[in-house]
Amino acid sequence: MIKVNEHFLKLQSSYLFSEIARRVNAYQADNPDMSVIRLGIGDATQPLCPACLDAFHAAVDEMGREATFRGYGPEQGYEFLREKIARYDYGERGVEISPGEIFISDGAKCDTGNFQEIFAVDIKVAIPDPVYPVYLDTNVMAGRTGSFDNGRYGDVVYMDCTADNGFLPDIPDEPVDLVYLCFPNNPTGAVPTREYLARWVDYARENRAVILYDAAYEAFIRDDAIPRTIYEINGAKEVAIEFRSFSKTAGFTGTRCAFCVVPEDCVAYDSAGNSHHLHDLWNRRQATKFNGVSYPVQRAAEAVYSPDGRKQTREMIDRYMANADRITAAMDELGFSYTGGKNSPYVWVDVGTDSWEFFDTLLTKAGVVCTPGGGFGKCGNRYVRFSAFNNYKNVDEAMNRMAGIF
Ligand code: PLP
Repeated sequence: MIKVNEHFLKLQSSYLFSEIARRVNAYQADNPDMSVIRLGIGDATQPLCPACLDAFHAAVDEMGREATFRGYGPEQGYEFLREKIARYDYGERGVEISPGEIFISDGAKCDTGNFQEIFAVDIKVAIPDPVYPVYLDTNVMAGRTGSFDNGRYGDVVYMDCTADNGFLPDIPDEPVDLVYLCFPNNPTGAVPTREYLARWVDYARENRAVILYDAAYEAFIRDDAIPRTIYEINGAKEVAIEFRSFSKTAGFTGTRCAFCVVPEDCVAYDSAGNSHHLHDLWNRRQATKFNGVSYPVQRAAEAVYSPDGRKQTREMIDRYMANADRITAAMDELGFSYTGGKNSPYVWVDVGTDSWEFFDTLLTKAGVVCTPGGGFGKCGNRYVRFSAFNNYKNVDEAMNRMAGIF
């Protein structure tokens, strides 16, 4: 008899965005003349920039000629893209990462979700609350957690992120082996200092732990004092894997291209205490299960690093950040306390009441959609997330409507 992986049965239904859609659709059906403004979901809204489009088109044309046609590419990604990433994202910032340490993929979702596969099932995992749900659910699927009771899975070390710790997870009291960190954070928009990250790197080195560092929103950092990569911290190359994406950096959410950095020095141990290079294990995993990102998409991603591409993607981010500025200015005026929005496209607002209740009020009185924080974990119950992914006109209108009801 065929049997299911029963760990999947522990998963809670992914209710957040479907429930938001259900409530918005019901409201729209009752109020057909109302133009609903969506500041909920974190999806890019601006089109690909001209530099990326030109490279994309040219590469598609290459695929149509026998002399320049390409079949399977390297599972790790084309050298032309890995070399640009190493040079511009790291080398220019004084961080030495070789192209061979970079793995191109079709998304940071897949990478952050898949990476746990190369670790043992009986390790202790530390996960922030609130959190981007992929880290938690993929560990549930892998069988690293107990069942779901009282809003939390057993055997997970949850790291509460609250106003008390500035939404920066504290190092747990009990020993942990694998730590998920995400900065700038989704959903809170919080960003770390170098000193804060150094404490985690020291912890990981002393305890032979590994940090999975999700920097999908790195491009939104405007303040030079904030680390753009965990590898700015001494010793991080021994203990940290970094995930990046072109999704939010360059509007590739529908085009799909991302990468992770697995430094040669990073190791984990077998039950006899022998060390193994994560780079080799991840390379083996990718070569077995992944066949690379399409050639035109990698050429489009490469164009992000051309002089025009850098300028155009910076302008794109600036436009989103003007929206974030409009949202934080409105929160200041309305007297809501919040975090994020300064070096992040997300504004995490303390609404002082149940997050779904606030969501309903905002939708039904103003026709504005936010994301209820409770959907990201227990610690999000009193918060909502506003996303800057929209156009300025809509964001401005949404904030004006909000000012009219609060
Ligand atoms: N990591 C975080 C924190 C995210 O918020 C998202 C998408 O919203 C992703 C990763 C996924 O990125 P990608 O589009 O590259 O899969």
